[in-house]
Amino acid sequence: MSGIVVVFDFDKTIIDCDSDNWVIDELGFTDLFNDLLPTMPWNSLMDKMMLELHSKGITIEDIENVLQRIPIHPRIIPALQAAYDLGCDLRIVSDANLFFIEAILKHLGIREYFSEINTNPGYVNEEGRLRILPYHDFNKAPHGCSLCPPNMCKGLIIDRIQDSMSTKDEKRFIYLGDGAGDYCPSLRLKERDFMMPRKNFPVWDLICKDPLLVKAEIHCWNDGEEQEQILLQLINKISMDKNSQFISPDCKLQILSISNPEALPKVLSVRP
Ligand SMILES: [Mg+2]
Ligand SMILES: [Zn+2]
Repeated sequence: MSGIVVVFDFDKTIIDCDSDNWVIDELGFTDLFNDLLPTMPWNSLMDKMMLELHSKGITIEDIENVLQRIPIHPRIIPALQAAYDLGCDLRIVSDANLFFIEAILKHLGIREYFSEINTNPGYVNEEGRLRILPYHDFNKAPHGCSLCPPNMCKGLIIDRIQDSMSTKDEKRFIYLGDGAGDYCPSLRLKERDFMMPRKNFPVWDLICKDPLLVKAEIHCWNDGEEQEQILLQLINKISMDKNSQFISPDCKLQILSISNPEALPKVLSVRP
C-alpha cells in the first residue's frame, strides 16, 4: 500500500455531469423536477421523482440505459487505473445515490477500484421502483453541520475515515471535488493532505473566500486531463517524500551535492 487515500466526489468530478440531472433530463422530467424543487430537499425530491417515473411506466432498465450513456472525460478512467495500480486506496463520497453510482461504475468496468462508496442509499423495491433515501436520517438524528445539506455531511464521513486509520502509519489524503458539499470535507483535511478543487466551481469559490481556512495544500484542476496530471504528480510527490524518510541525512546531502552543487550549504565555503 502507498499510504495514500484518494477520496473522490462523483458528479462533475468522476463523471462530467450531475447524475441526478442527467437521468431526469434524459427521461424528459425536467419541468416537473424544477416545479417541485422549491418544495422539498433535493434528496427527498429524487425519491419522489423515481415514484413519478415509475407511475409513467419508466422501468429500471430504462434508467440503467440512460446511466450507461453518461458523459465522462476520456482521461478519468486511465487516471483511476494508474492511482489504483500505484497502491492508492480509492474511495467515493457522493451526494448522488448508490444505485446510479454502481450502475455507472459497473458499466465502465471500474467498480473494483474503489474500496468504499459513501452515498445515499438507492435500491429497487418489490414493485420495481427505485427508492432513494438520505445518508443521514435527518428526521431522527440531524447531523448538526450548518455547511451541509440535511441528508449528508461529507465532513463527518471524512472524520470517520480518518478515525478508522491507525495514527502510526499517518495516511495522507487527496480529496477531489467540485460542489458546495465538498467544502466541509476540505476543512477536515490536515496539513500533510491535499485538496483538489475543480476550478471556478462552487467548492473553488468557497475556498477562495478565505484559503487559509484549508490546512491542506490546494491544487486546482479544470478538466479530466488536468485532474489526471495533477493527481498523478501528487501521488508521485507523496511517494518520494515517503522514500526520502528512509535515506540517512548524510546520503541526502550527497544526493544534493551531486545533483546541484549550488545547493551546498554556504557555511562550507572557505574564507581567506
Ligand atoms: Mg460533484
Ligand atoms: Zn458538513
